[in-house]
Amino acid sequence: MWWLAGFASVAFAAAACSAEAKDGGGAIVTYVTPAGTSTANAPASAGASATPSEPPELLLSTIEVYQSGAILASVTGTIASGSVTFLGRPFPLTKGTQSMYAFVPTDTEDPAGPQALRVDFTLPNGTKGSLSETVTVLKTKWTVDSLTFTDSQTETLLDPSVVANEFATLKAVYGKITLRKLWTGAWQLPLDGPVTARYGEQRSINGSVPSGHHGGTDIGVPDGTPVMATNSGIVVLARQLQVRGNMVIIDHGGGLFSGYAHLSSFSVAEGQSVVAGEVIAMSGNTGLSTGAHLHWEMSAAGILLDALRFTDGTNGF
Ligand SMILES: [Zn+2]
Repeated sequence: MWWLAGFASVAFAAAACSAEAKDGGGAIVTYVTPAGTSTANAPASAGASATPSEPPELLLSTIEVYQSGAILASVTGTIASGSVTFLGRPFPLTKGTQSMYAFVPTDTEDPAGPQALRVDFTLPNGTKGSLSETVTVLKTKWTVDSLTFTDSQTETLLDPSVVANEFATLKAVYGKITLRKLWTGAWQLPLDGPVTARYGEQRSINGSVPSGHHGGTDIGVPDGTPVMATNSGIVVLARQLQVRGNMVIIDHGGGLFSGYAHLSSFSVAEGQSVVAGEVIAMSGNTGLSTGAHLHWEMSAAGILLDALRFTDGTNGF
């Protein structure tokens, strides 16, 4: 298990994440017609051919998203580039198979209620336009747990400098955006087992007032249980950290990452490509952990998310 107060509320550099609705295989519930984007107003450019282009359309995986959920926003049609802005955060669009897309994250403390999601895009001829839709943020009810650590664990592993050092390592990894789609199809659980701590759980350590939010999903399994990649991507981290123990992080493209912590051993190395369901490691009890389990986390655009929402349908994909 593992958790950092305030970690999930830190948005790393301007980033973005993504996925493509048509590849996600989920319900597309919103259709938005473009406003003010007529190509008739496009500036004439010398030598430009009059190739017909499809007007951009915005597709959202859901228009009701829980705190720490994610919306898969796709823009179909012929656009050259674009970005999504939600709750004041910009997320660049990544080219998918049939559209451009972004996984738009929500954070633990984002305000509940309706919010505007806006896409700004540029057509191949340079014309700029925008699309928007209202998305309602739903409040997530966080669970609370009490934990006890030994003096040596709290002194060594909860040392602020240890936590800060690991935070910097993760921030550098999760803040990067690969503008290339590396995932495909549905997301899957890394292994089967009981969920022992949900994402966002608030914790009381050695009797302290509950605070912070657990940055991942804990699944209780014996040491040595095979851990599988939740989707395809490239291994960008496979090494020992002090708090999360042995950890693997997979880059799924577009600023979306999955992380697997407290492992006993690695089955992959940094730089290696993996496919969904491929065994990447064996579970364990390394780092700041009170028992054998897998800590599974997802990060989009530098914001940690509830990984289970990638498999339970509540994100609409
Ligand atoms: Zn955990």
